[in-house]
Amino acid sequence: MYQRVKDVLMLPGAVNIFVLPLSRSKALIIDTGSDKESGRKIFKTLSSLGFSEASILNTHHHTDHIGGNSYLQGKLEAQIYADAKEACFIEHPYLESFAIYGLAEPLTELKGKGLLAKPSLVNNKISLRGGEELNLDFSGVELRVVSIPGHSIGQLGVITPKGLFITADAFFSEAVLSKYGVPFHSDTEKYLDSLKGILGCLNGGKVEAVAPSHGSPLEIGEAETLIKLNISKVFEIGNLIVSAVRKGVNRMDSLASYLLNCYSVERRSILQFYLTIVPVRAMISYMERKGRVKCEVKDEGLTLKAL
Ligand SMILES: [Zn+2]
Repeated sequence: MYQRVKDVLMLPGAVNIFVLPLSRSKALIIDTGSDKESGRKIFKTLSSLGFSEASILNTHHHTDHIGGNSYLQGKLEAQIYADAKEACFIEHPYLESFAIYGLAEPLTELKGKGLLAKPSLVNNKISLRGGEELNLDFSGVELRVVSIPGHSIGQLGVITPKGLFITADAFFSEAVLSKYGVPFHSDTEKYLDSLKGILGCLNGGKVEAVAPSHGSPLEIGEAETLIKLNISKVFEIGNLIVSAVRKGVNRMDSLASYLLNCYSVERRSILQFYLTIVPVRAMISYMERKGRVKCEVKDEGLTLKAL
């Protein structure tokens, strides 16, 4: 099952997968879903449409975007394109768990399917700084690849020839925001800069529609509203952190729990907790640079002070 969005075929799901036809027999797959089963579904869809060759472009390394890589690389000898920094994690998925757990052998729950994809080889590594763009030629079809880091270290967005901006996980729907409370990101400053950069692109007249990885494609106006909501969410969380620290909730893990409570997030697995701690840590670094909080080592450990 797929739906046509501009010049792309979108396979909707928990994570949307995008297929851009390059010729009668060749396609570019943008992200490959969570696992081997996603890879199988993509392969079946491609075969039914007559595509026998494919390349893959991964927007970023999170498991739900690269899970089908290994299967498709095996079946189609697909060349994989990704940001050079993201490639480290795509080729060595264990590094994701290892990094989330603070560069130590992770807890068992952090080594499950949710974080550990099968490794795949990135043949073409793209080096861009946040906000930079590159025109990439795929068999005569030119794509604009835009660096939109923040959610992950080197996330890429893609603008197709007909003006569909695939924005990966740069921003989330209201449903995702309320499900997770604190949107996952690893660098708050870059996350905000990328959102502002995407808003600028939407106003530039070359983008006609937006397709995030989670949820339905959006008209320009809808995307703008959602991006502004995502930006205001960051400031809302920043204010909640400052007020929590003033109330004495001054440890990083307590802050993660505090925010999960504030946003009434039900799921409290170890994985969910770590997926909240990471953006909380990113927020603290950002707010420290902005002079809003300070970290100190006290008898009870690393503590925060509101300035
Ligand atoms: Zn992601």
